[in-house]
Amino acid sequence: MNVRYESVIGLEVHCQLELASKLFSPCPLEIGAVPNTRTDAYTWGLPGTLPMPNRAAVQAAIALALATRCTVHRHSRFARKHYFYPDLPKGYQITQADEPYATGGEVEIPGFTRDDGAPWRVRLHRIHLEEDAGKNVHVGRTSGVDYNRAGAPLVEIVSEPDLRSAEQAAAYMRELRTLVRALGISQANMEEGTLRCDANVSLRPVGTEPLGERCEIKNVNSFRFLARAIDAEIRRQTDLLTHGESITRCTLGYDHEHDRLFVMRTKEDAADYRFLPDPDLPPLVIDDAWVDEVRNALPELPAARRERWRGLGVAADDASMLAAERDLAEYFDALLVATGTARARRAANWLVTDLLGRLGSAPIASCPVPATMLAEIVTMVDDDVISGRTGKDVLGLCWSGEGTPAQLVEQRGLGQLSDAGPVDALIAEVFAENPRQLASLLAGKDSLRGFFVGQIMKRSRGQANPRLVATRLDAALGQAAGSTEEPS
Ligand code: ADP
Ligand code: MG
Repeated sequence: MNVRYESVIGLEVHCQLELASKLFSPCPLEIGAVPNTRTDAYTWGLPGTLPMPNRAAVQAAIALALATRCTVHRHSRFARKHYFYPDLPKGYQITQADEPYATGGEVEIPGFTRDDGAPWRVRLHRIHLEEDAGKNVHVGRTSGVDYNRAGAPLVEIVSEPDLRSAEQAAAYMRELRTLVRALGISQANMEEGTLRCDANVSLRPVGTEPLGERCEIKNVNSFRFLARAIDAEIRRQTDLLTHGESITRCTLGYDHEHDRLFVMRTKEDAADYRFLPDPDLPPLVIDDAWVDEVRNALPELPAARRERWRGLGVAADDASMLAAERDLAEYFDALLVATGTARARRAANWLVTDLLGRLGSAPIASCPVPATMLAEIVTMVDDDVISGRTGKDVLGLCWSGEGTPAQLVEQRGLGQLSDAGPVDALIAEVFAENPRQLASLLAGKDSLRGFFVGQIMKRSRGQANPRLVATRLDAALGQAAGSTEEPS
């Protein structure tokens, strides 16, 4: 009998907090600085230096825990995780082991629902604070270490194994990125390494509960490669299991150039980290007042934004798209203020389809058309002052700085033909020029109606109100039919 397998995925996500200084020293933090120019005695692990927790890092971590509905613990503890490697001058990393500051939250993934229609939620096992290691750099045949990153503040977000596909895992990562950017606590850029992820993957027969043996894919540096690496691992495990073999726990790397996984470590050479409480640091105390203060300062979160916009009739895909980046979300809210919320659905559509279409991958901050201008266009189209086609042209003109929508429509006479008279005149012209087609249409060849609508619209240079054209064309056809039936 053929067993069908379900994939089970849990992610360990590291996110670098965007702060002025490191987690345990006042050493400045800067991404992309010249190697080893952002270090100090503590970073180098010189004897006699002591860790001093960075209050801003704890504050950012609390914000993240609240935004993911975690329980924030009043007392938590820092521990030393020992290993020997050039990127770790102290010989141990300070992290939180048995006593993390936050546990038990959840994250909703937009675009994924359960069978009962409820949103797909990924439970969080824990979030903890830890310092980053340095970065090994290989140039040609020489290797060096850049310690700028050593001691950088990280939060590690550990999910429960609640993800069921590679695509869903990537969507979860995107949602975490959206969330930390909305909170303003991290740039969360996978290419720059301020957002990183280890993916744990296992399979189990569909319909069964117990978890299968898992393998862990280390540090993939883009959403696309993450999804591909997980898919490759699912294929590998499916192949083994269907051939009656078993899975051996291991740590894998992903070679994206060849879309191939390679084994980094097996269970036998798993490191013993000799965790112990850090004697240099007192327990981390987060009191209620601090939690309340952070809670009161939280911005509107992406999930809440999406829900608010959905309530105004915005399409689900548009809402996800617009909530993904904070600047974009703010642009859309400014647009809504100017158009009024009754036009929310169409405003979102214009923004996503027409404006973002023009912007491509450029950030909204570089958009030459302010929200108020786009709002004018949306409103004029919605009120039938101009046609949708003309609206797109006006947007193009505004984009190249030709003027404001109202000016352009006024100066260039782009207003929509909404009076029956001029439309009737156009219809009469088109009838006169196409007598044979008119006769066929009147004789019952209804497919020609579209041809006439097209000709009339063309003659109006797209400015005729399509609804008006439809009704006036019906009237004109009725008349023409009447006149041909009359005996002469
Ligand atoms: P460790 O610290 O040893 O890597 P944890 O038990 O803390 O292990 O789990 C780390 C991650 O692995 C979590 O995100 C968890 O959800 C996930 N995970 C654990 N077991 C499995 C499994 N059988 N299949 C898929 N993911 C798993
Ligand atoms: Mg792990």
